[in-house]
Amino acid sequence: MATVVDLPSLDDAGLLDQRDPLAPFRERFLPIEDPTVVAYLDGNSLGRPLYRTLEIIQDLVTSQWSSRMIRGWQEGWLELPERIGDRLGAVALGANPGQVILADSTSVCLYKTLHAALSLRPDREEIVTDTDNFPTDRYIVESIARDRGLTVRWIESDPASGVTAQQVADAVSDRTAAVTLSHVSYRSAHIADMPAINKAAHAVDALVVWDLCHTVGSVPVQLDATGSDFAVGCTYKFLSAGPGAPAFIYARSEHQFGLIQPVPGWMSAADLYAMAPEYQAAAGIRAMLSGTPAVTGLAGVAAGIELLAEAGIERVRSKSIDLTRLAIVLSDAWLAPLGFTLASPRNDARRGGHVTLSHPQAKKLADILIDNGVIVDFRAPDGIRIGLSPLSTSFTELWTALDRVRELATEVLS
Ligand SMILES: *Cc1c(COP(=O)(O)O)cnc(C)c1O
Repeated sequence: MATVVDLPSLDDAGLLDQRDPLAPFRERFLPIEDPTVVAYLDGNSLGRPLYRTLEIIQDLVTSQWSSRMIRGWQEGWLELPERIGDRLGAVALGANPGQVILADSTSVCLYKTLHAALSLRPDREEIVTDTDNFPTDRYIVESIARDRGLTVRWIESDPASGVTAQQVADAVSDRTAAVTLSHVSYRSAHIADMPAINKAAHAVDALVVWDLCHTVGSVPVQLDATGSDFAVGCTYKFLSAGPGAPAFIYARSEHQFGLIQPVPGWMSAADLYAMAPEYQAAAGIRAMLSGTPAVTGLAGVAAGIELLAEAGIERVRSKSIDLTRLAIVLSDAWLAPLGFTLASPRNDARRGGHVTLSHPQAKKLADILIDNGVIVDFRAPDGIRIGLSPLSTSFTELWTALDRVRELATEVLS
C-alpha cells in the first residue's frame, strides 16, 4: 500500500516558511498587484522587482541625472560596469576583482566572448557545444563558426541528464579551440560538472566559455578556483535586475592580454576621450566593453547583487534545494498519476533552481495554469518549468500552486 503519511500538508509548508531564515526577504520585493495571481513560478525567467531598485533609479534620475547631467559620467557612471562586476564576482561567482564586467545582453556578450576566446587559439579549427544548449548559444556558435571558417562539433546531450564531462572529454581534441556550454540547463536545470569539464578541455589546451544565465544568483560557482576561462550570464533572472538589464562577462585575468573582441568601441579603448585615430584596447576587463553602459539598467543589477549579498548565496542555494525537493515530492504524489514525468535530476547536487515536468499536453496545460494564476512557463516540446526563486518564493506559495495544478490538470484531463 502506498504510504502518504510523509506527504507535506499545507500546514507543513507553513512551518517550513516559519523556520526559513530567508523568509523576511520576501518583503523586499514589490507586492504582486494582480489579484488573480496564485503563485509566481517563473522567477527563473524574470525575477520580481525590488523596492531597492525603485529607490536607486529614483535617486539616479532625480539627484544624479537631473542635477549633475553630463558630469555624471565623470562622477561614477563610467566605472559602474567594473565596480558592479567586481561586486558580482565576489558575491556570486567566486571571481577576484578585475575579471567581471557588465555589458550588453547575454547574446551579445557570448558573441564577443567566444570570439575573444577563439582569438587566443588562432590555429585551432573546432568549437564544441551541445545540441540542447539554449537557442541563442547555438545560433551564435553557428554564426561565429561560419564567419571564422570553423567547424562545430556537436555533443548529443540528453535533455534531462545534460552534458557529462566524459562526453566533453570524448568530443575535444587538439583541433578544439573552445568549448561552450550552459552550466545549468535551461530545460532540465541539470548542473554540468564545471571542474571536470574545465579539466577535460584544458587537457587538450582548449578554452571553456560558460553560460551562467540559470546559475547566477541560484547556484554558487567558483570561477577562479575551478580554472574557468570565460563566462557570460544575465541578471534579470535570479538576480531580479529587471527586464533587459545588462549581462556580464567574466574573463580570467591571465586571458586578458592580447585577446581580440569583435565589437571594439570607444568604451573599450585605452583612452576614452583621446578620440584617437587608431583603436588601442583598454588594459584589463574594460577591453570587453563596446558602447555606453546602460546606467538605469545597472541600478537594478546593483540592487539584485546587494540583496543576494545580504542573503548569502549558500543560504539561497540551500533553500533552493528545499524548494525543488518539495516540488518533486508533491509532483510525484499528485501529478505523476496524471501523466506528468519529472524531467529534472533527482540528485540535489545536480539540480539547479527549477523543476521541469513533462506532459504530452504540456502546452495546453501551461496555458490553463497561467490563465488561472499559476505563472509557470512552457518549454517546447513538452516541458512545464516550475521556477523557484528562494528570495521571493515561499513554501506555502509552492504548495498552493501545485495543489492548484493538480486540481486544474484533473479537470482538464478527465
Ligand atoms: C535566458 C538565457 C539567455 C538570454 O540571453 P539574452 O541575450 O539575455 O536574451 C541566454 N542563455 C541562456 C542559457 C539563458 O537561459
